[in-house]
Amino acid sequence: MAIREGFIGTIGNTPLLRLDSLSAETGCDILAKAEFLNPGGSVKDRAARYIIDDAEREGRLFPGGTVVEGTAGNTGIGLAHICAARGYRCIIVIPDNQSPEKLDLLRTLGAEVRPVPPKPYKDPDNYQKIAGRLAAELPGAIWANQFDNIANRQAHFETTGPEVWADTEGRLDAFVCATGTGGTLAGVARYLKGRDTKIRIVLADPMGSALYNWVRRGELVAEGNSITEGIGTTRVTANLEGTPIDDAVQVDDPACVAMVYHLLREEGLFVGGSSGINLAAAVQVARQLGPGHRVVTLLCDRGGLYAGRLFNPAWLAEKGLAGAAGV
Ligand code: PMP
Repeated sequence: MAIREGFIGTIGNTPLLRLDSLSAETGCDILAKAEFLNPGGSVKDRAARYIIDDAEREGRLFPGGTVVEGTAGNTGIGLAHICAARGYRCIIVIPDNQSPEKLDLLRTLGAEVRPVPPKPYKDPDNYQKIAGRLAAELPGAIWANQFDNIANRQAHFETTGPEVWADTEGRLDAFVCATGTGGTLAGVARYLKGRDTKIRIVLADPMGSALYNWVRRGELVAEGNSITEGIGTTRVTANLEGTPIDDAVQVDDPACVAMVYHLLREEGLFVGGSSGINLAAAVQVARQLGPGHRVVTLLCDRGGLYAGRLFNPAWLAEKGLAGAAGV
């Protein structure tokens, strides 16, 4: 396939990278899919594409239409690119505690950005619910609804999962990944378990998320908090529902930050906090399995989105994380 279809044509088929330093440290093959190489810079381009294609196919979205979404940023970035390419208006409702780089990028891409105060999911003014109401009020608008729209998980069932399987030639012992909507984990886990039930599926969770306790003991209980963005949740979304998950590991902020800086200094990879959670969890799983195993995870997005936070020594010092970063 020499010629590809514009922005859409460059989504997916990301390379699977072997991380030598972590592989040597664990005696395992630690492999990570470079999702930050998607054209919008994150794993969420895949979901954005499937959500828009699905709405067009079902006749819910047509020329002159509007796409509304509540997002921590990356899904909005993917949607904004595709809306520009297809002539849709794009409205993004985003909690105002997300990184300023994401808000600026969304505006540059032509999205109308509506920052709102962060509220828990049960609050009627939670950003996801505001987005839903806005879409219902606007003629010709759809709500992308990435959390409960299973076109999201389908994107990973049809693309990410098969790519992992093909890239490893079916030789992997575990797949580990953090969840925001759960679309990535759900789609990949369903696909891989369908090919080989022995592949261990492990959910990686930041502090402040309820899913670790949900997987471990069936209770949606959250403790602590995290500087990571776009991952961690206190509910089981429609996307996550029914996912075959074998285990969960929890990663705190110091371990996440230490891993992000390890990836930067030892592997030359400039990625965001969820990638740190994923790789720290992958190392934990590799240690549980023992040498000779192969563990696959994802590098979700680019570090540049967090230049003023994760990569800003003053900000890290304020959060008590400068030591973990070694800055
Ligand atoms: N990492 C980052 C940086 C994200 O923005 C997201 C999505 N919000 C994820 C990971 C998790 O992906 P998913 O929504 O498929 O669970």
